[in-house]
Amino acid sequence: MAMRKPIVGGNWKMNTNLASAAALAEEVVAKTSNEAEQVEVVVFAPFPYLLKVGGLVAESKVALGAQDVYFEGDGAYTGEISVAMLKDVGCTWVLCGHSERRHVLGESDQLINQKVRASLAGGLKVILCIGETQAQREAGQTDAINIAQLEAGLADVTATVMGEIVIAYEPVWAIGTGLTASPADAQQAHAVIRNGVKALYGATVAESVRIQYGGSMKPGNAAELIGQSDIDGGLIGGAALKGDDFSQIVAAGCLATT
Ligand code: PEP
Repeated sequence: MAMRKPIVGGNWKMNTNLASAAALAEEVVAKTSNEAEQVEVVVFAPFPYLLKVGGLVAESKVALGAQDVYFEGDGAYTGEISVAMLKDVGCTWVLCGHSERRHVLGESDQLINQKVRASLAGGLKVILCIGETQAQREAGQTDAINIAQLEAGLADVTATVMGEIVIAYEPVWAIGTGLTASPADAQQAHAVIRNGVKALYGATVAESVRIQYGGSMKPGNAAELIGQSDIDGGLIGGAALKGDDFSQIVAAGCLATT
């Protein structure tokens, strides 16, 4: 079986200020440095703090990511941020299709796919977020929704760039709610998603693509979740705002590699 390096991302969402973002970045660097070889760590800071946070993580193994991007190169798109701008301030990663972008801001699968393709074409690595709502889960649509969002998000993305993509399975009902998918349920969803990648790109890509779990991951449940055979790390919201909690989740990712 392919050895996949776990990846743990901290999605700070619309939280922190300049001072607390800087302090959190310094704490993450200090407290995850021992795991840096075994676990990839990315912090997704708010746009206005990217430059500052980027400077603070620059000498470390912690990577800088943005929470969103626009697909056009430049021009009259008031309020939007391009791939080149993100790269200019040191980003190497970007989130596409986070559930809050889909369900609060109304992003469509088509727009998300445009963002994925523009990001990859411009040299950013992408975490493509997918996941079902509570109603979809109750209607027995979990697998169908995940496969549909996977296929739509990856439309016209070739196998050659799949190494630059991580999939985040984030059941919407578990994000920011304190509810977490059970390790068995999460593993089942991840296995279905990996099978979906196999159907699109073949077994080699499917075995190597990383699929991380997101949804109220915390120090207390991270090891068991990341210990599942198809779970390759976590995308962390609330717990990413506390340096201690986040670094314990990174340590759990590290445990999964031993
Ligand atoms: C997220 O925002 O991607 C997330 C998983 O949030 P939380 O950990 O707070 O559920």
